[in-house]
Amino acid sequence: MNGSAIAALKASLGAERARDDMATRSLYAHDDTPQNCMPAAVLFPHSHTEVQAIVRLARRHGLALVPRGAGSGNVGGALPVPGSAVISFECMSRILDYRPEDRTITVESGCITAQVDAHVSPDGLCYPPDPGSSPYCRIGGNLAMNAGGPHAIKYGVTRDYVLGLRAVTGTGETLVTGVRTSKGVVGYDLTRLLVGSEGTLALITEATLRLVPRPESRALLRAAFRDGPTACQAVSRIMTQRVIPSAVEFMDSHALAAVRQMGAAQELPPDTGALLMVEMDGDRAGIPEQMAALSGALRGEGLLQMEEAQDTEQAALLWMARKALSPATKAMAPLKINEDVVVPVSRLPDLLSFIDLLAREEKIRIVSFGHAGNGNLHVNFLVNPGHPEEMEKVRRALERLLRKVLSLGGTISGEHGIGSVKREFVPLELDTVSLNLQKSIRKLFDPDWILNPGKLFPDS
Ligand SMILES: Cc1cc2nc3c(=O)[nH]c(=O)nc-3n(C[C@H](O)[C@H](O)[C@H](O)COP(=O)(O)OP(=O)(O)OC[C@H]3O[C@@H](n4cnc5c(N)ncnc54)[C@H](O)[C@@H]3O)c2cc1C
Repeated sequence: MNGSAIAALKASLGAERARDDMATRSLYAHDDTPQNCMPAAVLFPHSHTEVQAIVRLARRHGLALVPRGAGSGNVGGALPVPGSAVISFECMSRILDYRPEDRTITVESGCITAQVDAHVSPDGLCYPPDPGSSPYCRIGGNLAMNAGGPHAIKYGVTRDYVLGLRAVTGTGETLVTGVRTSKGVVGYDLTRLLVGSEGTLALITEATLRLVPRPESRALLRAAFRDGPTACQAVSRIMTQRVIPSAVEFMDSHALAAVRQMGAAQELPPDTGALLMVEMDGDRAGIPEQMAALSGALRGEGLLQMEEAQDTEQAALLWMARKALSPATKAMAPLKINEDVVVPVSRLPDLLSFIDLLAREEKIRIVSFGHAGNGNLHVNFLVNPGHPEEMEKVRRALERLLRKVLSLGGTISGEHGIGSVKREFVPLELDTVSLNLQKSIRKLFDPDWILNPGKLFPDS
């Protein structure tokens, strides 16, 4: 970045909030991916108006801006590009308007996700999207990636809870999208366009979110299966009965070993090859009926053991272990390549058989777990980047996996997004017509391509 740009940013925000010292820059040089790239500066706006001033200034100086929530993304979305400035939303975390009677809340985009839910909980309301990172990730990052979580099978994902947004486009204009009501159909749905746009169309500063009543009660079933495919056949049986569970989580035998090391899921049959966690929620009085329907669906080929979590403590331990799986698998190898593919639920057994085959044929360690109720699997390749031949095998295996997923009617990313690390695979899923149209839309929002360049789209 040229000296005049940093001088102008310091003059606009103050030197404390336009930082170019080494310590700050290195703190913001990475997200949850193993890559890092030193930004030229890190900016900490406190308001929509300051974000607008930054974008206008950046445009004038040809400066790339990389928006950042908590930096918990798994695909390099918040990773700086050379010469860029990171714009961190951490100082914009106010709750602007809370209306329990309308079941809405308007927040700044730097709000921590779990804090939004905690804020509305005393009124018996709930903000359902709950990525595993919710104790620290931020609403802006969730919106940009359209984050999901274990409860998506019943409650949907971030996009299903966004009524309207306030944002700054790449030209520095204020864009207000959507409505603050539960219905509204005027014009194109720009809210949905911004959700999942990975910071490439506009910088989101505020969001009005929809709330729902908090379920009164929850219960959890733990079902041990002989292997992955039989566990996933049970998921298909769940889908063909009437009760919608609030979560259906899958773990293969390797994920299970990690969970057991954390002290959860002990005393399973020794030949357990896969585990399902099936949660239900709702009115207390209705839980036994849900329990009967879901345990009935779980019974079938390959079921070795089924148990209800006896108390909230046991259920919490299992959930804690499930949520810790992502960092736990990271510790299992020098490098974890984390895919988050989705297939139609009925094709999960095919996908798992293919992953087994892939691991055997390519001689790679693969750990799989995830939101089976949505057909969304986290397929983790555990590798050593110090071995070039192993990396070559993984690159080949990755492409084979993604092609298989698409042939099963799936998608290459269910929640983590594309960022910088998956860009090269986008043309496997999107055809030229779609890609060109999307790039044209981007040019309308950000003619100079200053918002998060090098993300989402493959190099031309
Ligand atoms: C342990 C762990 C568990 C996880 N579990 C899940 C899960 O269950 N489900 C799931 O979906 N993801 C999960 N993730 C991934 C990650 O937490 C999500 O993608 C989350 O939405 C990122 O939020 P963040 O605030 O950290 O955003 P960041 O990582 O900082 O940024 C993510 C993207 O959003 C853009 N962005 C950030 N703020 C804005 C803004 N205000 N305006 C425009 N663009 C912006 C960034 O440029 C980047 O492209 C997990 C990650 C970890 C480490």
